[in-house]
Amino acid sequence: MNEDMLKASGLRVTSPRLQVLEVFTKHHGALAQSDIENELVDMDRITLYRTLKSFNDKGLIHKAIDDTDKTKYALCHQDCDEEQHNDQHPHFYCIKCHRTECLDEVTAPAVPVPEGYKVTEVQVALKGLCKICS
Ligand SMILES: [Zn+2]
Ligand SMILES: [Zn+2]
Ligand SMILES: [Zn+2]
Repeated sequence: MNEDMLKASGLRVTSPRLQVLEVFTKHHGALAQSDIENELVDMDRITLYRTLKSFNDKGLIHKAIDDTDKTKYALCHQDCDEEQHNDQHPHFYCIKCHRTECLDEVTAPAVPVPEGYKVTEVQVALKGLCKICS
């Protein structure tokens, strides 16, 4: 199944790519590079960095912006591809368990912008207590 995801995105199936994808499918929510490093202790950082970058470029994962200084990524569920990401959902950061989740069922509201500005990406970061912690 993960192999099919790679093929559908036009990526060659390699062992590091499968391993990274597996970590994402196993976990719910967004992961920082350091979280993945903890799971895949044998993978070197450059390979991991490049794998994350290619996944992001090909529409397999997207950046989940939150209030921490770490870049986190989450699996794309919408119809994302190489051309464009369509992840218009907010990301929720829990101040208690420190996890960041995609609120896939919510669409971030369109923000009206002054004339002359063109929005290409919407990032909504919410913060509070998740359903487990609240
Ligand atoms: Zn996406
Ligand atoms: Zn929580
Ligand atoms: Zn997300």
